[in-house]
Amino acid sequence: MNIKHIFFDLDRTLWDFESNSLQTLTELFNQFNLSNLGMNSAENFIRKYKIHNERLWDLYREDKISKEELRGKRFYLTLKEYGIEDESLSEKIGLEYVRISPLKKRLFPYTLDVLNYLNKKYEMHIITNGFEEVQHVKLSQSGLSSFFKHIITSEKVGVKKPNIKIFEYALNKAKAQKDESILIGDDLIADIFGAKNAGIQQIYFNPNKIIHDENIEFEINCLSQLKELL
Ligand SMILES: [Mg+2]
Repeated sequence: MNIKHIFFDLDRTLWDFESNSLQTLTELFNQFNLSNLGMNSAENFIRKYKIHNERLWDLYREDKISKEELRGKRFYLTLKEYGIEDESLSEKIGLEYVRISPLKKRLFPYTLDVLNYLNKKYEMHIITNGFEEVQHVKLSQSGLSSFFKHIITSEKVGVKKPNIKIFEYALNKAKAQKDESILIGDDLIADIFGAKNAGIQQIYFNPNKIIHDENIEFEINCLSQLKELL
């Protein structure tokens, strides 16, 4: 491989979305006294939230709802399961969620070690489907900003991964050739098939060792393995 540019996904690839989100939701459960509203446990609340959040994220990814709708509605539908129909409270929790969660700093094991190693050899960039105002905060709070030359968010480009346009935009912005670029991401559709379709090589980060029957050239379950590949 004659690689010069590495494009990283952010959420669930470097930034440990699940841990950071869990921490945020637990704090919100306490902050908004949700147990007083009849919710027996934070775990239960979070389990229900995750189902709604995932479903709404799918709709957001398909441009069927806006990010403003996604923000409040995932909490509205969760509260509704407990018999609480409160748009104003849902909106408040939704706003707090997007304010607090990007301040969390949990990264996947070896993130900083590997980025320090790669930084000496490659130009690195981020391509993310996350929100513009949120992703920059995450990067700076978790000490990642300085590693990346260009931060490309779907919100800024106007299309989300796996749309080929976001990859073309990123290549153009980084002044990178596709055959000297590689993308590392955790999402088979958005990252791996997206990059493949754009002619960019890919490394599938699969920390939970999800079983699949796709034919993937490079697959890792720990970021430290990047040192052997790159
Ligand atoms: Mg991801």
